[in-house]
Amino acid sequence: MVSTPHVVPGPDGAAVLRERLGDRVVSDADVARSYATDATAPPRPAPDDFTVVRARDEGDVVAVLEHAQATGTPVVPQGARTSRAAGAGALDGAIVLNVEALGGVRDLDPLEGLAVVGPGLVNADLKAAAAAAGLFYGPDPASWRTCTIGGNVATNAGGLCCVKYGVTADWVTALRVVLPGGEVMRTGHRTAKGVAGYDLTGLLVGSEGTLGVVTEVVVRLRPAPDPALTALGVFDSLDAAVAGVAALRADRHRPCLLELMDRTSVRAVQAFGDHGFPDDAEAVLLVQADRPGHVAQDVARYAELLSAAGATDVAVADDEQESQALLEGRRVMSTAFEAMGGRIAEDVCVPVGRLADLVRGIQAVATDEQVLVPVGGHAGDGNLHPSIVYDPTDPDAVRRAMRAFDRIVRLAWSLGGTMTGEHGVGALKAPWLEEELGRAEVARQRRLKAVFDPGGIMNPGVVFEA
Ligand SMILES: Cc1cc2nc3c(=O)[nH]c(=O)nc-3n(C[C@H](O)[C@H](O)[C@H](O)COP(=O)(O)OP(=O)(O)OC[C@H]3O[C@@H](n4cnc5c(N)ncnc54)[C@H](O)[C@@H]3O)c2cc1C
Repeated sequence: MVSTPHVVPGPDGAAVLRERLGDRVVSDADVARSYATDATAPPRPAPDDFTVVRARDEGDVVAVLEHAQATGTPVVPQGARTSRAAGAGALDGAIVLNVEALGGVRDLDPLEGLAVVGPGLVNADLKAAAAAAGLFYGPDPASWRTCTIGGNVATNAGGLCCVKYGVTADWVTALRVVLPGGEVMRTGHRTAKGVAGYDLTGLLVGSEGTLGVVTEVVVRLRPAPDPALTALGVFDSLDAAVAGVAALRADRHRPCLLELMDRTSVRAVQAFGDHGFPDDAEAVLLVQADRPGHVAQDVARYAELLSAAGATDVAVADDEQESQALLEGRRVMSTAFEAMGGRIAEDVCVPVGRLADLVRGIQAVATDEQVLVPVGGHAGDGNLHPSIVYDPTDPDAVRRAMRAFDRIVRLAWSLGGTMTGEHGVGALKAPWLEEELGRAEVARQRRLKAVFDPGGIMNPGVVFEA
């Protein structure tokens, strides 16, 4: 069904919001609809009744949250809508508050090694601004060319280089946040150290838009590494590939990228375009070095470690161009899976020592449920993204895919892991949260949410079931 979003939920609310925000309230139904869904696979249907506000400054955010609190209207904070966890899609009767226009680098201080940025700044643009000053911002979700820093903060995003540089939380030092009712809150510090009071920055990073709307982010910057070089290892045994992961992680100079693709992923990527992976590989590992002054030496050592672990073939890039070419197959992985049909994207994370058990367990689930499940992702962190591929027009296939999804979550738990390493709980995995954390813990977290959001208007149904 084609939905026709209302301009503003509630008869009085419409007039009030329009009066305060004018054309920031989207009045064109087609434009509004383009803000209704995010990148969750499978896509969620858009509701009929929602409003889109495109904030231009913090004052607009304050106005929306004052209005929302007063009228009990749900608010969905929104960045670039690349959420994989159904965290940023419109809800029935809600205001979708898009903050992409609150971008820009507001300050960059090389002495302190920090940047102050708007939440709408695209991750790649922050990296570029840091690089122009000879500095480096680490977190690099595979969606880095489109996703925003606000979205990264809200999901505590990871990415390909976490194995060396950590996740978003490791880089965020202070925030400005607008709370329900419109109060502006500041957390954290801009100094190198700061331990006054509770770490509310840490609480807000990863809160998935359920506590408030981030309107400014202070991030740490580090001296820039050297351009990375890539090595590729091809394996005819999964255990050997996982032994390679362990050896590379244990290296004194840890790689800045350590990614795995299993045999189904390799075939899926090769079917999408020739990226030079042998079709009969059981697994491939991609590894990168970027240590200033030692890149060639490190990547050569990584290549030796790959061979020692049992790689049947190892390729090492000599320059940046070759390096990018070797990595391209991994970069197109998600698109290659999408081209295969309906899919559910997973995000489980286990202790690195249990990786082989995870991949083998997933392969067994795929066989049992007669679905295709290519597995790839951030092996260096134990964080993989199995994609359950199925025919969405076949009700039985949909049932089997959903069963596979549930079984993979339980498999991760049984191996000492979590159902989400970096995409977040969203609405997608909210039904599983209590099983992972326990009833008492979820009740405690709900009480914590109520401190910030007593009316429960912030992104209801995300993280906690509504
Ligand atoms: C191809 C592809 C690859 C991806 N690869 C990775 C990866 O490697 N690592 C990874 O971690 N993720 C990855 N993702 C998921 C996604 O890109 C991240 O979750 C990203 O952080 C979302 O940013 P966004 O700007 O798109 O936010 P949105 O999708 O718009 O929102 C995400 C969540 O943040 C909240 N939010 C957004 N902005 C604010 C704000 N200013 N204040 C408060 N809450 C806010 C939303 O309510 C929602 O809950 C990938 C997604 C795609 C499509």
